[in-house]
Amino acid sequence: MDTLSRRHWIFDLDGTLTVAMHDFDAFKGAHGLPPDVPILEALDAMGGPRAASLHVRLADWERDVAAQSMAQPGARELLETLAARGARMGILTRNTRAIALATLEAARLDGFFTEALVIGRDEAPPKPDPAGAVALMRRWGAAAGDAVLVGDFLFDLQAGRRAGAHVIYLDPSGDFPHRAEADRCVTSLIELLES
Ligand SMILES: [Mg+2]
Repeated sequence: MDTLSRRHWIFDLDGTLTVAMHDFDAFKGAHGLPPDVPILEALDAMGGPRAASLHVRLADWERDVAAQSMAQPGARELLETLAARGARMGILTRNTRAIALATLEAARLDGFFTEALVIGRDEAPPKPDPAGAVALMRRWGAAAGDAVLVGDFLFDLQAGRRAGAHVIYLDPSGDFPHRAEADRCVTSLIELLES
């Protein structure tokens, strides 16, 4: 089955539909978090009032980045093409739903996604857990073979694969360090449109 004819599409947001802008290492460094543990997992392991206060800092920072979001080249065209084909589309992000909605608006990609289909870290356990992807597919009644997950980070690919979706790995640099976890590698969303 060619990629575009699949009818159920789950997108990572930051760095996939938008241009990557989060400097997670800088946030970790500024707040004394371990460099080799993802932020959400580091805060989970920490617990207590310090974790709670860092969650507030994290959301403040994510909100600032959201306001500057720009669409990935080809994002709007891809979403328009999929919408015209009657595809169903959702977002699965490790960000919060509120910040994801602000990101979509700043990047002028709002209008393609209903709020209920934007799954953030408070709606499902964060990727690489596949629960959010599975929930979207179940909601749509999608067969795994008819679902696609597009992402730019290892956790996206792992979540998609565990959910049984066709996994597309976007890496504008073309390096694809996690290619083993993907069914298809693309350097731009425009490449997907041409498939
Ligand atoms: Mg991403």
